[in-house]
Amino acid sequence: MSGQSLDKKMGCCGKIKKMGSIGLSHMNFINSEVFKIPRLKYEHTDERVGICLTCDFNTYMPRNSYIAWFLSNAKAIMKNMEDLTVLPMLPKQEERPGGKMFCRVCKCWIAGKARMKNETCPKGYWIQ
Ligand code: SF4
Repeated sequence: MSGQSLDKKMGCCGKIKKMGSIGLSHMNFINSEVFKIPRLKYEHTDERVGICLTCDFNTYMPRNSYIAWFLSNAKAIMKNMEDLTVLPMLPKQEERPGGKMFCRVCKCWIAGKARMKNETCPKGYWIQ
């Protein structure tokens, strides 16, 4: 998959945006896309992740926790697909085995989002 097509596919917080088709496909998408590290790596990915690592707005959620959050907020997610920052922040959880780093503000999985050139930090902490 080329960088351009991956960018287009993922978009801004696109892993969640892509969940436009509601229903069971969400679960398949979460399993197949959200937690799969894209091969593409933007030149500032590591720098971005480093910033997120020290940010108060990060959180660590295992797959099951994220899925549970998604399901319990599905209606609001669908309604605000273009801007998930309007949803209440994800719960703050410390790093633990199996936990993936998410942004509590935009609800994105950082390892995936940081690879997308056109993504931005909702708080403006990323320089690039
Ligand atoms: S994307 Fe921005 S607000 Fe979210 S965890 Fe990273 S640095 Fe913090």
